[in-house]
Amino acid sequence: MGPTKVMIKGDALYDAKSGKLIQGGLASRQAMEEYAAQHYIVLPEVDKSGKLWEWEGRPVYCLHGVRYESLDDQPLHLARCPDCGGMGVRIDEITVESDCIRCVTCGHEFDARLEMMET
Ligand SMILES: [Zn+2]
Repeated sequence: MGPTKVMIKGDALYDAKSGKLIQGGLASRQAMEEYAAQHYIVLPEVDKSGKLWEWEGRPVYCLHGVRYESLDDQPLHLARCPDCGGMGVRIDEITVESDCIRCVTCGHEFDARLEMMET
């Protein structure tokens, strides 16, 4: 079992699967991140402007800083855009030589292999 995936509603965190309230009264994203760091939960990914990542209309979660998963625990081949923090989607039709990723928010293209070397 991985960490509990949560949803944010207002100033409260809810279990994203059961809808159960986990913790309320968290006034800022920073307060939520601090709470998440101290508990076994993971917040949905957001870009630098605070906009949620969405994969097929659902939130995306980053586990252990490197692995992305959907709410249903499906592994997703995504990467974080170095410019805007947006969701980068793999473009695998073009070539197998490079692992090219395109940001869905700003359209920036980058090579995800550079960031995945430590894994
Ligand atoms: Zn971007």
